Amino acid sequence: MIPVTRPFLPPRAEYEALLDGIWDRVWLTNNGPLVHQFQAQVAQRLGLVQPLYVASGTMALQLAMKALGLEGDVVTTPFSYVATTSALVWEGCTPVFADIERDTFTVDPAAVDAAITHRTSGIVATHVFGTACDIDALDAIGRARGIPVLYDAAHSFATTYRGCSVLSYGDASACSLHATKVFHTVEGGLLVTRDESARDAAERMRNFGHVDYTTFDGVGINAKASELHAAMGLCNLGHLDELLARRRAIHDRYHAGLADLIADGRVVPQAGRAEAVPNHSYVPLLFEDAERRQHVHDALVARDIHPRQYFSPGLHELNYVGPPQNLPVVEDVAARILCLPTYHDMTDQQVDEVVSVIVDAHQGPL
Ligand SMILES: *Cc1c(COP(=O)(O)O)cnc(C)c1O
Repeated sequence: MIPVTRPFLPPRAEYEALLDGIWDRVWLTNNGPLVHQFQAQVAQRLGLVQPLYVASGTMALQLAMKALGLEGDVVTTPFSYVATTSALVWEGCTPVFADIERDTFTVDPAAVDAAITHRTSGIVATHVFGTACDIDALDAIGRARGIPVLYDAAHSFATTYRGCSVLSYGDASACSLHATKVFHTVEGGLLVTRDESARDAAERMRNFGHVDYTTFDGVGINAKASELHAAMGLCNLGHLDELLARRRAIHDRYHAGLADLIADGRVVPQAGRAEAVPNHSYVPLLFEDAERRQHVHDALVARDIHPRQYFSPGLHELNYVGPPQNLPVVEDVAARILCLPTYHDMTDQQVDEVVSVIVDAHQGPL
């Protein structure tokens, strides 16, 4: 069976070596030494200023929303994982959806600008599938309108934009380190803010609002990461280059195998952006119509290969947002997209098998 993804596990001895220290110190959570070490290594590796390691990508988003003061309407993308929208609603905000770009699947800056009103307190955009948004345009809109821009960079550990980590852009960026992401700590997230006071506020919020044992400043929650999670992160950081190289190789092999269908326009990959280097953490493809997508999907499943229809339906169709909005591009993309399997120990032979099923599923009319 070929799943859409499978978590990477480092050699067990590497993890066990870090457990020895945890057992010696008997320090399991609450801002421990491995959490600090992990934050420092991530900062160095990605060139970030004081990233905060938190319990999940969703917590990183929600702490950022609170720290940036998002309230009322927030303009956001309808093409992302549900957490981008649910985090906003959980924080008491009203998502207002702007349509996406047809080729990159990231939110369209012109649509964002058109959706902003006097009630809008911020913009939340996703670097979907590890491909950067039009950051120049979105950051400029945020500045011109005087509202913060938050990037959901859950898919985008190690994606770069103009040579810098994509996490260093916007007023804040939130990354997920969940087991299914290209680089993970089992569960976990990273929050990076432009402004030091927002970072400090988020750091307090991460730990119930504690300033010291008896003093609290503002409402908080438990968004702390544990030493056991940080240990997994430290092990996996040592394998980051291999992880990224394998994802790229799988991506390139798919594209080579599907080159004829791509040249004929029958299969359309996600477009990149000249300023950005994606991390190839997903392999999304658009098929010619919903029927062909279904046919390819069913042919793959019949061979025990399990692609996913990320992300359909669009988030504007969730039953807790409304009223219904007419967003033709996202509706079209959501109806035709399929993400192919990609994971570290997927073999070339397995990639070729997926390719041959897709090629066969394009023979003849439906
Ligand atoms: C995975 C994901 C999240 C949530 O991250 P968790 O670490 O699972 O909480 C948020 N946004 C997007 C786009 C995601 O894919």
